Amino acid sequence: MDFQFIGQEIYRLIENLYPICRSITGDGFRTSMRILKDQIPLELHEVPSGTQVFDWVVPQEWNIRDAYVMNSRGEKVIDFQKSNLHILNYSVPFQGKVKLAELKEHLFSIPEYKDWIPYRTSYYKANWGFCLSQKDLDCLEDEEYDVFIDSTLEDGHLTYGEYLLEGELEDEFLISCHSCHPSLCNDNLSGMSLATYLAKYLSTQKLRYSYRFLFIPGTIGSITWLCLNEDSASKVKHGLVVACVGDPGNMHYKKTRHGNAEIDRAVAHVLEHSGDGYEIMEFSPYGYDERQYSSPGFNLAVGNLSRTPHGRFPEYHTSADNLDFVKAESLADSFSKYLEIINVIENNKKYLNTNPKGEPQLGKRGLYSLMGGRKDASHFEMALLWVLNLSDGKHSLLDIAERSGTPFSSIHEAAKALRDCGLLIEC
Ligand SMILES: [Zn+2]
Repeated sequence: MDFQFIGQEIYRLIENLYPICRSITGDGFRTSMRILKDQIPLELHEVPSGTQVFDWVVPQEWNIRDAYVMNSRGEKVIDFQKSNLHILNYSVPFQGKVKLAELKEHLFSIPEYKDWIPYRTSYYKANWGFCLSQKDLDCLEDEEYDVFIDSTLEDGHLTYGEYLLEGELEDEFLISCHSCHPSLCNDNLSGMSLATYLAKYLSTQKLRYSYRFLFIPGTIGSITWLCLNEDSASKVKHGLVVACVGDPGNMHYKKTRHGNAEIDRAVAHVLEHSGDGYEIMEFSPYGYDERQYSSPGFNLAVGNLSRTPHGRFPEYHTSADNLDFVKAESLADSFSKYLEIINVIENNKKYLNTNPKGEPQLGKRGLYSLMGGRKDASHFEMALLWVLNLSDGKHSLLDIAERSGTPFSSIHEAAKALRDCGLLIEC
């Protein structure tokens, strides 16, 4: 597979989504879902404002057309049209003259990074505000400003996108990504775009598990989905929350609440054999939507696989998380690792050695000649012997890969060769 090309495609999709002002509700979110719909047959759901979802209520829908702060010379000193991060996300409509001291109560900046615009939200408290660089803030003169925010916050809907790719089993693998951030690339867009290309690729494959892709607003989206799918959520046997997969940092995996679920072991195995640096972190009830999937009433085996985790890179939630910060090569690498993990889960079956008394004679079955010309003959031979020895109906291929210290792909290849000559049958 041409991962380099896929990395570039994922990057291109990020470029298309980047200019849109998304939020947890509203037309920016819908427009983004329509762009994804050009790639995969996404189903869009609209949940009315005011819908009770467990302990939460679906909020009013927010839309914005324009916003600025203008000085007495008629210059827009803060302009939403230049960056959608300038508006405090979910700002209520406002129009009026405001003195600098009062305006400052509604301004947000980052003193440590003078050129960057922060990303701030006020979803659940009615407020208005602007975000700007510290440099621009320092330039504001003590005068009266015209503040204009052309937004609406009214009853409407919460939108989310869902795509179920049916496999042989009803058991599901959940891929979930928050899709509610405006122009931010690593946090949000990298996850949305990688998930889209995973779905697109998997739709061409014969699958054992069914794959459910969710493109949802953070927190309220996963809570809404869980509430609307309370009875069927237990079909999810494995899951990954995708976010921050485009920066050049090492992979980081946050384990599921279970701590030793099949997905935890599959991710650890793939990262261990990748040859690249990585870190595995224990579960904690903070982070992305894995928090909701892991709430005790659901306890789904959903982990979070990122490169540099949220909050651990200075560009996080600032205008510096932009198109320069994410790289096609990093996206390609993340994509290939996600695919490898899925490959482990798809093929992690248990087999029975049909000739368990003494080792079967491999030569007469052509398995020696199979090994003959190979550079890694002894490696493959060892994989055959491990699979034969541990295929007693109790050990899965991942068990065997872990115990033998052999990459899953080699163990899987050995199992295929043994099955083809009748030495293994699937349990
Ligand atoms: Zn975020």
